[in-house]
Amino acid sequence: MLDGKTALVTGSTSGIGLGVALRLAAQGARIVLNGFGDVDSARARVHALGVEVGYHGADMSRPGEIESLMAYAANEFGGVDVLVNNAGIQHVASVEDFPVERWDAIIAINLSAAFHTTRLALPRMKQRDWGRVINIASTHGLVASAQKAAYVAAKHGIVGLTKVVALECATTGVTANAICPGWVLTPLVQKQADALAAKDGIDDAEAKRRLLADKQPSLRFTTTEQVGDLAVFLCSPAADNVRGVAWAVDGGWTAQ
Ligand code: NAD
Repeated sequence: MLDGKTALVTGSTSGIGLGVALRLAAQGARIVLNGFGDVDSARARVHALGVEVGYHGADMSRPGEIESLMAYAANEFGGVDVLVNNAGIQHVASVEDFPVERWDAIIAINLSAAFHTTRLALPRMKQRDWGRVINIASTHGLVASAQKAAYVAAKHGIVGLTKVVALECATTGVTANAICPGWVLTPLVQKQADALAAKDGIDDAEAKRRLLADKQPSLRFTTTEQVGDLAVFLCSPAADNVRGVAWAVDGGWTAQ
């Protein structure tokens, strides 16, 4: 379905970003990876699906490096047809204790980066009259939790950005939508389970059970593959007129 298209997935060396990249690659898309850590194994897993794969190590908190990433995608792959804004970080603290530097980093990576990639990707998408902007927001783009001020602010912000982009592109073949996962078991969530286990003196399984029981009625983690398959649907012709939605995949979290 995505043969001949190029997908850029930010923060795709692990977790949800890698899961989305693998599903888009399985549909034939060329993939531009981004992120830190184990780049080689992410690249090998995408390559094994028989598609071209590139990588750019832009730090998504830096607008200048994001411009280099987009120039790389344009020069090496002819531009971006599917833009998945996924890179994200978390920090847990009350507002009055929230480190200012962590606030700035979360807003830069989880929100402003999506503005920069989108503004740079849209001209070509509009010119071709086809494009997909898929923002990996969160349940925290729809509702809040205590201790997550920067994350909740950034995620509500990216849901708003998604709606504006959808409206500005509404008469074109370019759509913009957000995916709002609840708990997905990735390194980002494992850190929160580790912190809970240490704080309450419980084991890993009990910490995960408590995280789920607190928020997610299905008591099951959403998988990275499920998020990837939702992104594939949003790229399909069936989703041509799905515009500006914030689609929860959260085991019932926001139904409560
Ligand atoms: P993760 O920690 O597994 O992956 C984050 C990715 O972002 C990694 O590839 C990392 O290298 C990259 N990254 C971090 N900082 C970066 C930077 N400055 N520049 C470039 N890349 C950077 O986390 P994840 O859980 O897969 O999270 C991915 C996205 O999904 C985030 O936006 C997160 O908010 C969102 N999300 C996660 C969950 C969950 O339960 N895991 C739920 C809802 C939304």
